[in-house]
Amino acid sequence: MKEKINKAFNERFSGAGTLYVAPGRFNLIGEHTDYNGGFVFPGAIDKLMMAEIRPNGTDKVRAYSFDLDDYAEFGLNEADAPTQSWARYIFGVCREVLKRGGKVEGFDTAFAGNVPLGAGLSSSAALESCFANAINDIFNDNSIDKFELARIGQSTEHNYCGVNCGIMDQFASVFGKKDHLMRLDCRSMEFEYFPFKPEGYKLVLVDSVVKHELADSPYNKRRASCERVAKRLGIETLRDATMEMLDAIKTDITAEDYFRAKFVIEEKERVLAVCDALVAGDYDTVGRCMYETHHGLSKDYEVSCEELDYLNDIAKECGVTGSRIMGGGFGGCTVNLVKDELYEPFIATVKEKFKARYGHEPKIYPVVVSDGARIYENQ
Ligand code: ADP
Ligand code: MG
Repeated sequence: MKEKINKAFNERFSGAGTLYVAPGRFNLIGEHTDYNGGFVFPGAIDKLMMAEIRPNGTDKVRAYSFDLDDYAEFGLNEADAPTQSWARYIFGVCREVLKRGGKVEGFDTAFAGNVPLGAGLSSSAALESCFANAINDIFNDNSIDKFELARIGQSTEHNYCGVNCGIMDQFASVFGKKDHLMRLDCRSMEFEYFPFKPEGYKLVLVDSVVKHELADSPYNKRRASCERVAKRLGIETLRDATMEMLDAIKTDITAEDYFRAKFVIEEKERVLAVCDALVAGDYDTVGRCMYETHHGLSKDYEVSCEELDYLNDIAKECGVTGSRIMGGGFGGCTVNLVKDELYEPFIATVKEKFKARYGHEPKIYPVVVSDGARIYENQ
């Protein structure tokens, strides 16, 4: 990747700039918990965005996307927003830095990445974090704190890309640390690193490559259920609810709301259980919790789909330690924790069985937990 970016940069802008990288992310456990004030548990992965950057002494950004073979040139004022969607991520990051009183001047850049687009590994957060971190280093003496860099990425999505996302993806891409996952408390925004060194295991995402668009905004309906139950309990979010509290009002709420809230409460407990298990190096418990999350997402929260349940069933049959839907649901990936010796047979089986039923193979993305946004070491 380095060589092709160097070459593209030199051809377009002549000479060389400084290389920066930022990763995509996965989430081990903690799904649909962010808007309930709960915990998420992401880690940065070894799939990256890499950008070569050099100030150009003008007030314009000149950007070349190697993967899309597309070029954009734009100024730094609000009215200068580029039309290409990929360039809006870079423009948005520049604007959000400026809005916070930071400094951005014109620069040249060529960039490329190997985070699969739209697979649920957050290639967009990788792109934002890569540029936010680079701009912090090049123009601001690294005076912008790391949490603010994550917020700059999140605001970019909100204000320039039309995606109303939470903070997890950008947070993970900025703060990622090799061999560690991060438990982020979505209420206090405090976080803690936990060791994640699954020796003898592989972590692999299996992408169903399906996305079911549902008409009646299931996401908003899930949120509304959670909010109703919290209100009925007299608490701000389900973060403060327990199963005893929920059972005490069971007859006053709909069965649907009951099961939605049950999932959220149990998921919060599961994240905490996984943290304890990781400290103890107990990956069997981690895996069991992943299956429980899948079951809860499928049966209680009802955000799974046939294809994802099938991937989960195959994993179970193959003896995979842990497997669950990753992300919002209704399609996308499962995340799987697989013993080394079962990895090859599992991948072969899942490809074959899935294709036999749905006509196409799932995509396979092995991932290794890695460091967050940074300057590239081997310039
Ligand atoms: P994801 O779940 O991967 O974040 P998004 O739809 O949020 O998917 O973001 C994908 C968008 O990010 C792409 O449409 C493109 O605009 C931009 N992007 C991601 N990776 C690249 C890349 N390697 N080169 C150019 N643009 C990219
Ligand atoms: Mg995205």
